[in-house]
Amino acid sequence: MSTTVAFIGLGQMGGPMSANLVKAGFDVVGYDLSDQARALAEASGVRVAPDVVAAVNGAEFVITMLPTGQHVLDVYADPSFFPATRPDALFVDSSTIAVDQARSAAELARAAGRTAIDAPVSGGIFGAQNATLTFMVGGDEADVASAKGVLEGMGKRVVHCGGHGSGQAAKICNNMALGISMVSICEAFVLAEKLGLDPQVFYEVASTSSAQCWALTTNCPIPGPVPASPANRDYQGGFATALIAKDLALASDAADSVGTATEFGRLAAKYFRQHADNGAGKLDFSSLLVALREQAGVES
Ligand code: NAD
Repeated sequence: MSTTVAFIGLGQMGGPMSANLVKAGFDVVGYDLSDQARALAEASGVRVAPDVVAAVNGAEFVITMLPTGQHVLDVYADPSFFPATRPDALFVDSSTIAVDQARSAAELARAAGRTAIDAPVSGGIFGAQNATLTFMVGGDEADVASAKGVLEGMGKRVVHCGGHGSGQAAKICNNMALGISMVSICEAFVLAEKLGLDPQVFYEVASTSSAQCWALTTNCPIPGPVPASPANRDYQGGFATALIAKDLALASDAADSVGTATEFGRLAAKYFRQHADNGAGKLDFSSLLVALREQAGVES
């Protein structure tokens, strides 16, 4: 008999992730508030339940892939949630949420006699569609080991980062560095252009010099040098500005909680928050280049 996985949150990430679990041979029961998300999941072989409680009933694993930590805590704190689940069910939250919220979620599970782990992902929508996500996992060794088969149905790498919340800690530290490096690459392009350099020439130098990084050579913010980067598709698809702004805000909050300055992280948070507020929330975060070019009076 196949293992039953309940999947709560069938959006841009949860939809393809749950579809990959079906392909990997799991029996997947899903639920989402959105009619459209439910219909798409059903078409990919997910058994759609009428509500959360019906979805989790009988499942060996309960995965949540929800927008924010508050959504996750609301689901976990609903008095009918844990009693509807098997006592031996393992709870896996793959949403990106605050470290202390991940620890609160694990504590809610523990108080109900259940076990939870945090398992946020990197790899974006492309990784979700192609089952190539990396999972950064926080929790007890034995629980991480028992979730491995399910996680490998949706990704190619599972890294056990430590105790509860440490998966989220790894995720937001990584994304803080990513946000800072994208700001630095966008600023470097704008300055290069202001100094009269051809952006293509600057790319050729920087991509083989010490400024080389993912933000430059994979997600290059100017159209041209890297054909697959979102800059060549008017910044559609890719990693949304609203999401990097959310992750950088989580990093700043986490830094506050442990009294760490992270000044560049906070500046990057400000840049991307403003960019999202100015209407670029759904565009790839490398579109910051367009805003910085405008500010600097560089023609696109
Ligand atoms: P999304 O908004 O597309 O999907 C979230 C889904 O949750 C929506 O369909 C919504 O209807 C549903 N939902 C909300 N509350 C619910 C509830 N109580 N019960 C059932 N369904 C509910 O978001 P997404 O892009 O899939 O992202 C999900 C999480 O993954 C976020 O925490 C995000 O930060 C993280 N993440 C996203 C990406 C990305 O590239 N999109 C990459 C890595 C991590």
